[in-house]
This record gives sequence, C-alpha cells and structure tokens, in this order.
Amino acid sequence: MAKKKDSVIDKVVSLCKRRGFVFQSSEIYGGLGSCWDYGPYGIELKNNLQDLWWREMTQLHDNIVGLDAAILMHPRVWEASGHVSGFVDPLVDCKQCKARFKAQDLVDGWRDKKKLDGLADGDIPPESEGDLETLKLIRWGEAVCPNCGTRESLTEPRLFNLMFKTFMGPVEEAASVTYLRPETAQGIYVNYQNVMNTARLKIPFGIAQVGKAFRNEITPGNFIFRTREFEQMEMQFFVKPGDDEAWLEKWRDERFASYLKLGIKKEKLRIHEHSEKELAHYAKAAYDIEYEFPFGWQELEGIHNRTDFDLKRHTEFSGKDLSYFVEQTREKFTPYIIETSAGLNRTMLVVLVDAYDEDVQDGEPRTVLRLHPKIAPTKVGIFSLVKKSGLPEIADKIAQDLRPVCAVFTDHQGSIGRRYRRMDEIGTPWGVTVDHQTLEDQSVTLRDRDTLAQERVNISDLPKIIREKLAE
Ligand code: ATP
Repeated sequence: MAKKKDSVIDKVVSLCKRRGFVFQSSEIYGGLGSCWDYGPYGIELKNNLQDLWWREMTQLHDNIVGLDAAILMHPRVWEASGHVSGFVDPLVDCKQCKARFKAQDLVDGWRDKKKLDGLADGDIPPESEGDLETLKLIRWGEAVCPNCGTRESLTEPRLFNLMFKTFMGPVEEAASVTYLRPETAQGIYVNYQNVMNTARLKIPFGIAQVGKAFRNEITPGNFIFRTREFEQMEMQFFVKPGDDEAWLEKWRDERFASYLKLGIKKEKLRIHEHSEKELAHYAKAAYDIEYEFPFGWQELEGIHNRTDFDLKRHTEFSGKDLSYFVEQTREKFTPYIIETSAGLNRTMLVVLVDAYDEDVQDGEPRTVLRLHPKIAPTKVGIFSLVKKSGLPEIADKIAQDLRPVCAVFTDHQGSIGRRYRRMDEIGTPWGVTVDHQTLEDQSVTLRDRDTLAQERVNISDLPKIIREKLAE
C-alpha cells in the first residue's frame, strides 16, 4: 500500500519532465540540488495559479492592494524581524558519511524507534524541544549515525542560519553583507505606510505580494514541495488590536474555501491549529491549511496572527514611528497583522498530485490530469482527423479564432487516440476534432476530458461555448 502511494509522486515527476512542466535545474551539468525549472506547461499552470490568487486577493476585495518589493533589503530588516538570530536550526554532521541532520529530527527519530542507539534513557529529552540547551543533554559523540550506522561519528549540534548570505558591491566584507529574503512579508511591513498613504487606505486593509523567497533548507526534497528557492503568495492584513482574532478566523475560512474552488478534493484538505509549542516567535495564534500528500499531511499555507510584533520591532530598529492614527477618535495604535502565506510551487504540487489519475479508455490505460479548467495550461486541443482534404487548414482557422478566448494548441500528427491521450496528460479540458463531416456542415466534435462525452457543435458557436464553460 505504502509503495503504491509513494509512486504517485514519482509518476507526477516523470509526467512533469516528459510533458514539459518541470525540468531539473542545470540538468546538462548533472542538476543542482532542489532547484527546478518550469517548462512551457509548468509556467502556464504556475502563472494561472498566481493570477487566480492575485485576482481573488486584490480585484475581489476593495481594501487589498498589491506590492512588489525588492528581494534584497537592508540587513537591519532581518535583525528586526528576528531572522538573523532566530532563523536557525541546530545541525549534526556525520564525519564518516558526510550526511547532515536536523538535531531535532534525530532526537524525534530515536524517540519514535524507542531505540536509543547507545544513549542512556535519561539522555533523550522527554519533550520535543528544539533549543540547544536541551540538545546538549545528549551524548552526541557516542551516538550512531542513522545513515551509515557508524558509531561515534556525529558532531555536536551546531547552529546554522537558513538565510542565504551575499555581498552587496565588489568588496566581500562584513559591512557589505546582505541576505536573500527568506520571506516576502518584511517588504510589506517596511512599506506599509507608503502603501497606505498613497492608496488612501484605512484599517482594516491588506497588502498582497507574490515573489521569490530563499531558504537554505537542510532537508529540501519531495520534488517542488521543499526547495531552497521558491515563491510565496502572501497577504498581510492590518487590523485594529482586538479585532485580530475574528479576522484570523475569517481569513482561515476564506483561504480554505479558495482551495475547494480550485477543485482540490475536500477530504484531502484539513486545518491544523498550532499548539503553544509550535507557534513561531512572532505569532499569537496560527492555522496551517494542510494537504494529504502521498508522503503525509503537510502544510500548504499558513494563516498567522503576527500581532504587532513586526511593526513594533521595525519601529524600534529604524527609529521611525510605524503606528496608525485614527483622525476622528484621535486613537493611536500599532496595527495587528493577520498573514496568509502560501507557497506557489507547493500549491502547484498539490494541484498536480490531486489531479493525477489513471483509468482505462477503450481497453487502453490512460493518464489524465483532471485540472480545473481555470488553471489548466491549455484549455482546448484542436485536431484534424487526417492531414489532408483541407482539414488541417480548418483546424488552424478554428485555433486562430479561439486564441483571443483562451490558450489553445493544435496537433495534426499521429492517430487521434494518441493525440487525445497527450491532451489528457497535460490536463487540457476540451478537444475539438475536424473531420470529413465538417466539410459538409461546418460542425466539429467537442470532446470532454473527464466525461469523455463527444458532441457535435457548429464551428461558429465554439468561442461562445468555450467562454461559457470557462466561466462556470
Ligand atoms: P515548513 O514547516 O514546511 O518548512 P514553514 O512553516 O517554514 O514551512 P512558512 O514560513 O509559514 O512555512 O511559509 C509559508 C508557506 O511558504 C508554506 O506554507 C509553504 O507553502 C511555503 N514554503 C515555505 N518554505 C518553503 C520551501 N522551502 N519550499 C517551498 N515552499 C515553501
């Protein structure tokens, strides 16, 4: 059972490469760990997901506007945010096989196995605690490497900052250190007054941003699930203190509903409320929207009550007053922030895994991506039954007329069955086939990817039909 489940990811990875969704980065040089390039269908799918999110956040709310802040920011930003001191994980290296582990993962693994690998019972901390003090209780030098099995090969845990460091300008010295942002949120916080004043916003209001973030993850993996370079879709919502708890619930529900609208199976989604111990240093309360991947339930989006932590810290570190003033009541306060933070690449993995299906059609196995038409990379495949009698020309003309409506592709080569299969595999919801009857009555076959129903429709009605189907 477990084996069958695991292989869905392998199948998705292989489909992504075969059909041009995702390629390994720098493949001709042997690839670069955890980095991926998005091919023609991948970038369409990713753009569609991003566009839908953007539309949902900005266009459909009159009090949310967008921002695109720089990836490189003043290094003090990351001191204020707590990332320089807090964005660290204690790591343990094996001197023998060079494997690297999160110290906490080893402790959890040992506890799960109830096998202490040469360590005394009392050495294993009773609670899952990540701080170095607790980890110091363990006699790491005597432990066994879980990867190569060598005893006495592990180092003591060492702190490791997850931020990518670089140098601004030609001189590599401490004064020129900058970081690639590990989250997009801080660009919004430091700009919040600029945005609020220029867009004439009043609390409650939100600022949305999509952009790259970088984390030198210790354990990247599961294809595009956890990578060191990724994209976040974040919305920071500024509210009056006291209103924060109600807004957190509202955004949790709205974001959950948005995945259902994407067509994700409801039983594969759930909400996980953070316990006291799980909460990040800035958060008062938080929910994760989780999806059941073949490798288990995992976070897809975080909805956090970040309180006034970030704005207060930026006030302290920059010396600028970032409080909010209400003219009528003369009230002054530092806004609380409710954050919705989703991974774009991770959302793409969710929709691919969720849409992946195999069935049998006319006695032949078929692979199909049952993507919601709104996000499918192409909406209509247009085929001519044979490559003669003027049929390809008619198909090309149909494609030309449909291009202003949606993304289409034409394919006149090979058997029609094979062409339908290709269209199913890239998740194209509808296929149009031009055949001999078309020459007589200007009608074509319209095939549905999911129901496999085929109906005859008039060519001149196609733009209207497709437009209506896409609006459903
Ligand atoms: P995780 O526990 O999975 O590392 P996190 O709690 O650190 O995630 P957040 O900081 O809340 O994640 O980031 C918000 C969202 O950004 C996550 O829900 C996820 O979708 C995405 N994300 C975070 N780290 C990565 C990564 N390394 N690769 C891809 N997406 C990521």
